Amino acid sequence: MTDHHPLLRQLPAIDRLLNTPPLKAMADSHAHAQLRAAAQAAVEELRRRLLAGEKPLPDLAPGAVARLAVEFLHALETPSLRRVLNLTGTVLHTNLGRAPLAQSALQAVVEVARGYSTLEYELGEGRRGERHVHVEELLCRLTGAEAALAVNNNAGAVLLALAALAGGKSALVSRGELIEIGGSFRIPEIMAAGGVRLVEVGTTNKTHLDDYRRAIGDGTALILKVHTSNYRILGFTSTVTGEELAALGRERGLPVLEDLGSGLLLDPAALGLPREPTVREALATGIDAVTFSGDKLLGGPQAGVIAGRQEIIARLKHHPLARALRLDKMTLAALEATLRLYLDPQRALREIPALGMLAIPAEELLRRCRELLPPMQAVAGDRADLEIIPATATVGGGAMPLAELPGFALAVTPHRLSLQQLAARLRRSDPPVVGRTQDNRLLLDPRTLLPGEEPLLTKALGAALAAPSHD
Ligand SMILES: *Cc1c(COP(=O)(O)O)cnc(C)c1O
Repeated sequence: MTDHHPLLRQLPAIDRLLNTPPLKAMADSHAHAQLRAAAQAAVEELRRRLLAGEKPLPDLAPGAVARLAVEFLHALETPSLRRVLNLTGTVLHTNLGRAPLAQSALQAVVEVARGYSTLEYELGEGRRGERHVHVEELLCRLTGAEAALAVNNNAGAVLLALAALAGGKSALVSRGELIEIGGSFRIPEIMAAGGVRLVEVGTTNKTHLDDYRRAIGDGTALILKVHTSNYRILGFTSTVTGEELAALGRERGLPVLEDLGSGLLLDPAALGLPREPTVREALATGIDAVTFSGDKLLGGPQAGVIAGRQEIIARLKHHPLARALRLDKMTLAALEATLRLYLDPQRALREIPALGMLAIPAEELLRRCRELLPPMQAVAGDRADLEIIPATATVGGGAMPLAELPGFALAVTPHRLSLQQLAARLRRSDPPVVGRTQDNRLLLDPRTLLPGEEPLLTKALGAALAAPSHD
């Protein structure tokens, strides 16, 4: 690569750029140093493109280069973590932030984050308190556990429980439960990270109680059961129940832990979802402790809960990892408020957005599609065909992989753009719109659209279809 390019000399000087209308127009709202840095970045970028043999800009006139600098400035000022309109229909979409929070949870976050709080302060005696107390009693009430602890996420809850109960020793896990959850949470790796030696028992499809019994040795400190939440082995299978493992644990003096993944606090039938044990049912088997997520089927903030027997939870609370994985005040506030809604299950169903989205009947989705169709057709004009079609959504978050949520979606077929172009333009909208493609159409599923977001969707579709098609 050479340092010379005939066009390099045409790149405008920084002071010249600062005097162009696009950058001068921003002088009132921006510091001089910011404008200068943006101008420098634009020139640097064009120099890089020229030297790399890429096309720089159609025109290297100062005005055009200044417009690039303004684009850079806007990009720098656009938040990276942004709100998105979720039209995928996947309710607990891990990449889009899983569960939207209930109104009361949002209020609790604002209240606690705005000023000071009782985070670790006991008002009765006016002295240092424990941050665990804000959610422990609620968790016990809602799950039947004797004690509970909430940490940063369920991966952290499992790691803490493994390290505290079996660090330096070994734990038994069925070969059929050595799972990977999205985002590189793998049972064997989390065990290694917790300093626990994995002893595999049984086979992929069948594990019997005797397999566990025979594997127990001097170094065994824990029996771990893992809910295979994101896949199913069908056919010739057998697993050992929680009751059987709990009995074996009692007989041999070993704690039994179950990683439930999703933390169901309500009967899934109330949501029209397939049977799956609730946290209360899992603990009722006699298992010593369970772990679950705060932002899966519970519908709260990212958190991981360990609920179970008093002495087990006490060991966890005193482990150094509990300090490293502790919750911050905003998450605690959101978790406490979300849990409080469950004291009245009807209220939880009404006010926790994820539960409402899972439970929406198909007729209601059809009604929403019919309401969305006319304004969407109006902005699309003759640039796209819109149609209401039956569509199946999924729970997401690795929960209930086989559950199909029946519903309806708007299917968009653009005429002058490719599907990829339309999808990319919608993602560049403000706020960005994310749908899903299926059978050469873009599906917009209203299940995961929040109330009041409809006009933003319509505007985004209109703009995406109208823009000239040079991208
Ligand atoms: C989702 C899941 C996890 C990880 O939980 P996070 O809250 O995402 O950390 C662990 N175990 C199981 C079985 C899960 O389903």
